[in-house]
Amino acid sequence: MPTLLTRSTLPVPPARSAFTPAVTPAEGAGVQVLPAGPRVIGADVPVPVRDGRHVPYANLDYAASAPCLEAVHEAVTRALPYYSSVHRGAGYASQVTTGAYEEARETVRSFVGAWRRSAVVFTRNTTDAMNLLAHAVPAGTSVVVFETEHHASLLPWRRAVRLPAPATPAEAISAADRALRESPVGARLLVVTAASNVTGELWPIEELAQVARRNGARIAVDAAQLVPHRPIDMTALGLDYVAFSGHKLYAPFGAGVLAGRADWLRAAGPYLKGGGASASVGRTTRWAASAEQRHEAGSPNVLGVIALAAACETLSDAWDSLAAREEALVKRLRSGLAALPSVRELNLWGDRAPRVGIVSFVVDGWNARDVALTLSEEYGIGVRDGKFCAHPFVGHLLGRDDGDCTAGRDTAVRASLGIGTSEEHIDRLLTALAELAAR
Ligand code: PLP
Repeated sequence: MPTLLTRSTLPVPPARSAFTPAVTPAEGAGVQVLPAGPRVIGADVPVPVRDGRHVPYANLDYAASAPCLEAVHEAVTRALPYYSSVHRGAGYASQVTTGAYEEARETVRSFVGAWRRSAVVFTRNTTDAMNLLAHAVPAGTSVVVFETEHHASLLPWRRAVRLPAPATPAEAISAADRALRESPVGARLLVVTAASNVTGELWPIEELAQVARRNGARIAVDAAQLVPHRPIDMTALGLDYVAFSGHKLYAPFGAGVLAGRADWLRAAGPYLKGGGASASVGRTTRWAASAEQRHEAGSPNVLGVIALAAACETLSDAWDSLAAREEALVKRLRSGLAALPSVRELNLWGDRAPRVGIVSFVVDGWNARDVALTLSEEYGIGVRDGKFCAHPFVGHLLGRDDGDCTAGRDTAVRASLGIGTSEEHIDRLLTALAELAAR
């Protein structure tokens, strides 16, 4: 049997420049000198604007989907010649692919600091991961969730106590404590986001984990918007479950993760029934015992998983420089917005709350959709507008606590950034908003 190549020892692909599209410096903006460190594909790609020019794209929509890291593209390209079935073939390529898939699981485990015996289940995305957990919680589990959650974490539960948006982090902790204490005897689960997809604010997940533990509950953390910006350590923080998506982590190949305690996952019926999830099938079916096998039925998204693991490795090697740079960019953006009288930033816990690179705002006299369209069509800037799949939270921030957050009304604009964002992108947005406000 030849020695197996693993994901990290697959041959290096040809010239790196093959993955980096040539960007023609376009009118209207200088060439960006990006700092050393991880690089993304498509930073400053030329896009058309209304007057017929092409300008370098200012992608400020990372919170929706982040661009692809060069290192991710390289890892996928390295894997492609050996691309084959996972857990199914005896052929060499199949063995290489299976090795790469399982190696990726260990990379992800170490990326989130999951305990050695935790399950690391590959899913399609965060929504899928949270739905898998909702499927696996024991019947009758009391679930407590804040109404500030993204719908992916707000909606999958059969029954949940919904806590209103807390006015401070301390209030979040005391409200969770009270709700868990008052929950019926039995399994209890607190579900909370680590970093808000609307305001970027960081939630006190370590303290909430302690509250959960004190009340005999588990905590599931939606880390979709945290892991692209900050490291997470499940063991040190005392987190039971973590969910996130590859496409927000610079690995846009359709894979996600649910990592956490294996017992509920092993006890639950398979999330999808079919090949892979079954150990033996005759008159009766015996399901696979391991949480991963049980809930990864069908052919898995091996390239997505390889991509995701490559992103985890790349970010793990770069946290210090990334966080410092992001903080400087966020400061530039927020102080620029604060200087525009017609712009109001949305936040739950005030100006000084720690946050990641996500900022939502409204512009007086402008509908959010028109702002986003004008930024795109006239300035080559990509932002998101709407309620960001967090309708109750955006309703709260906009002062519509009656829950009437009707589609098309009461929406905001969101700018979000990451690797590849430059000062020029931020300044272009601020200039454009000033011009819009003056119209
Ligand atoms: N949770 C948060 C905080 C998010 O921002 C998002 C997506 O925007 C999700 C969950 C859902 O992620 P996905 O669409 O990848 O399932």
